[in-house]
Amino acid sequence: MASESDTAPDDTPGEVLNPIDMADGFAVPGFDAVARLAAHSLRVPVVSLVLATGSAYWFSDDARSPHSPQALHPLYLEAARHGETQVVPDTNADERFGGVPLLTDLRTASMRFFASEPVYTLSGQHVGALCVMDYAPRDGLSEKEHDDLRDAAELAGTGLVLGSYLGRTDPVTQLPHRNAFFEDLRARQRSGAHRAWLIAIDVAPVSRFNAFIRAMGHAYADELMRDVAARIQVWMPEHTHLYQVGIHRFAAVLPDSPHAVDGAQMDELVHRLRQPFDCLGIPLTIQPGVGLLNLEVGELDGGDPLRLVMSATHAAQDSVRGWSVYEPAHDEQHRQEFFLVTELAAALNDRTELELHYQPRVELASGRCVAVEALARWRHPTLGAIPPGRFIPLAEQAGLMRTLTEWVLDHAIAQLGAWQRAGLALKLSLNVSSSDLGSELVERLRSAARRHDVALDALELEFTESTLLEHSDTTREHLAAIRALGIGIAIDDFGTGYSNLASLRQMPATSLKIDQSFVRAMEASRHDGAIVRAMTELARELGFRVVVEGVETAQIYAAVCGMACDEVQGFHIARPMPAGELPGWLALRDAAVG
Ligand code: C2E
Ligand code: MG
Ligand code: MG
Repeated sequence: MASESDTAPDDTPGEVLNPIDMADGFAVPGFDAVARLAAHSLRVPVVSLVLATGSAYWFSDDARSPHSPQALHPLYLEAARHGETQVVPDTNADERFGGVPLLTDLRTASMRFFASEPVYTLSGQHVGALCVMDYAPRDGLSEKEHDDLRDAAELAGTGLVLGSYLGRTDPVTQLPHRNAFFEDLRARQRSGAHRAWLIAIDVAPVSRFNAFIRAMGHAYADELMRDVAARIQVWMPEHTHLYQVGIHRFAAVLPDSPHAVDGAQMDELVHRLRQPFDCLGIPLTIQPGVGLLNLEVGELDGGDPLRLVMSATHAAQDSVRGWSVYEPAHDEQHRQEFFLVTELAAALNDRTELELHYQPRVELASGRCVAVEALARWRHPTLGAIPPGRFIPLAEQAGLMRTLTEWVLDHAIAQLGAWQRAGLALKLSLNVSSSDLGSELVERLRSAARRHDVALDALELEFTESTLLEHSDTTREHLAAIRALGIGIAIDDFGTGYSNLASLRQMPATSLKIDQSFVRAMEASRHDGAIVRAMTELARELGFRVVVEGVETAQIYAAVCGMACDEVQGFHIARPMPAGELPGWLALRDAAVG
């Protein structure tokens, strides 16, 4: 008979672990049969499947041990988390046991023999170990027994995958899925519950989570999800199940409580999740959002409580407190954003609503336009023009940034090629967000430049300070690869981030664009003029080409002329314009400056 238990994911050596009871129903398909085969061919009374998450499934064909254990030796988790075969001929002769029994209360005499084989999913992901035990010590495993154990472990891995195909469990965390979550809710409804608190926990905004995956790889993200799940489970009230309802999202139904939500308890959860994770030896801080919804269980039919609670989660992610209770206003905002994101995804697909405008950058010394900055424009058929300040952050959140940037790069570089062939000596600057930064970006730039016959040193990428200050090695490598191609790097909106002036020296940039907020304020305040002057001098001293943005009036232009500034950009010189208008504007400009 097989049964399942869940251990607290604490693997302190030398201590026994207490399995926490879990409801039946999340079984691994076929585990019973696999375990029976293994028990038979290896002649062992007890077989278990222990997962890296701490869940354990038990099989015992022995009348002496009809129940799952109350406590497990840490050796199980060690076996489950390290992908190696282990054979312990006699636990009494092995110092790792030091008198601690392998299992307690399998209604057994102590187990003396232990062997385990790693379990992998079909895609080769290590997820746990299949363990066999015997009451008597043994010499080890024969070659045939080893083969049988390996076969059984392989079958167990297939069962795990099958379980997730059937929509029951997530293959990585082994937590029950969304389907099980709804089944559980419906069970409450049948049992006559009136209200229930739903909790949903997002690990990070989608764009940030995707950035983790890009920077660290899927194995890291998988491990992170397991670690986050483990932390939530330690916090969870007793007899509550955690479900994985999205790739980076968990949910649970909290125990019935007539009271309002316990704020201190939620603060505690957020506090725990905000502590850095030491994931595969690399520290990482996530950006959790915890959403709560007091659900009328009777009104479950037809509604989607997960969608509602997610809007609270979403709002919580940007809040200082990190948790929030559902309010209809959240949902309205969420719906609007959702609508815009869907529309943006469609616009990216058919591309007729998207356009690029180009804003001239003028060299102060000669007065000539030396470069243009490409700026994305979206004209929605019913909503009209939607400013980039609105849709760029949405694209970022919805994981659409890469597609948008690909379109911008291809389009703008093609346009630059056409202008250059028409005899216009121009450079091009492109805005890129940190989620774009990766090896594909470098490859895409290289191939677009080749395709449109544009020299790479005619291109410049504009990043914000925070991207350039990211200390990860991968970010640095990608930036170095961009520089190595001869592409310039600009620090956009300088002064709005949190970098200090000393950190400027470390930024791998070639030019620096002073943010328009300082520049535009110059007109009204002498202090702002002094700030812009000091920033330009420092930037030039550090070897950057200095660009002043937001030169809106003749007065600002005159003030900037006396500063350590190489280029200016702003409405006083020209507003961003469609590509077709640029050659005419350039001709007029050239005629004016002579
Ligand atoms: P940014 O890169 O700092 O671009 C300059 C913004 O300032 C543009 O706004 C431009 O129209 C505006 N601007 C230029 N001169 C003046 C001036 O004298 N006065 C005033 N008031 N504004 C001026 P826009 O086009 O609305 O873009 C806003 C931001 O959206 C951009 O700021 C950039 O961060 C982002 N963005 C635009 N297009 C793209 C894109 O293709 N990709 C990415 N990642 N971001 C983009
Ligand atoms: Mg820019
Ligand atoms: Mg800017």
